[in-house]
Amino acid sequence: MKKKILIYSIMIMLIFIMNSLVFAFDREIDPDQPMVAITFDDGPSQYYTPIILDVLKENDARATFFVLGNEVKKNKEILVRMIDEGNEIGNHSYNHKDLTSISDYELYQQIVGTDEFIEDITGIKPTVIRPPYGFVNDRISSRIYKPIILWSLDTLDWQNRNTKKICSNILENVKDGDIVLMHDIYGTTADAVKIVVPELVKRGYQLVTVSELNQYRQATMLPGHKYSNMYK
Ligand SMILES: [Zn+2]
Repeated sequence: MKKKILIYSIMIMLIFIMNSLVFAFDREIDPDQPMVAITFDDGPSQYYTPIILDVLKENDARATFFVLGNEVKKNKEILVRMIDEGNEIGNHSYNHKDLTSISDYELYQQIVGTDEFIEDITGIKPTVIRPPYGFVNDRISSRIYKPIILWSLDTLDWQNRNTKKICSNILENVKDGDIVLMHDIYGTTADAVKIVVPELVKRGYQLVTVSELNQYRQATMLPGHKYSNMYK
């Protein structure tokens, strides 16, 4: 009898723990409060992306990672972790070619090939794309069947490689509805994330994925159209 009670108690405890985990994953977003979508391009990096994921997790924050197909193949576990922790994965081409300068056939390989790599690993096909350098033209827009995500706040982290500058570029300019551009392949960027993410949370910003920003701002993202912010 005592054994039965013990088993029931353990089962009830497990149900409580599972419920709280589900709640933690589906965190509540208040559409009336400010929100920002931080995005990271060119990864994943086996060194810096896990550090960034740790910071996001500790702060109950999410981000969008625009990954490269050829980096994805080397970092499968990191990709799975991104999804498990509620982040979004976007397509950033296979090997960072300027899409406006390649043939339709190569474009297909760059985009569809990368989608397939990501879907094979995570089970999820990206719904958003960011072309390398943000370069698009009418031909690209008409052939890409995903919303094209650009940015409204450029940290210039790839150029300055300076943690202080990256932080001030964000903290002095950030606005509700911004899409922030960073790269998860530099130590200076990972160090900036450690400062910026808790500070933004402290200031009342909800750090969301691009698709969440779209969802809570009730914007409609159309394939082939460009989006650089979701201001109210
Ligand atoms: Zn890039």
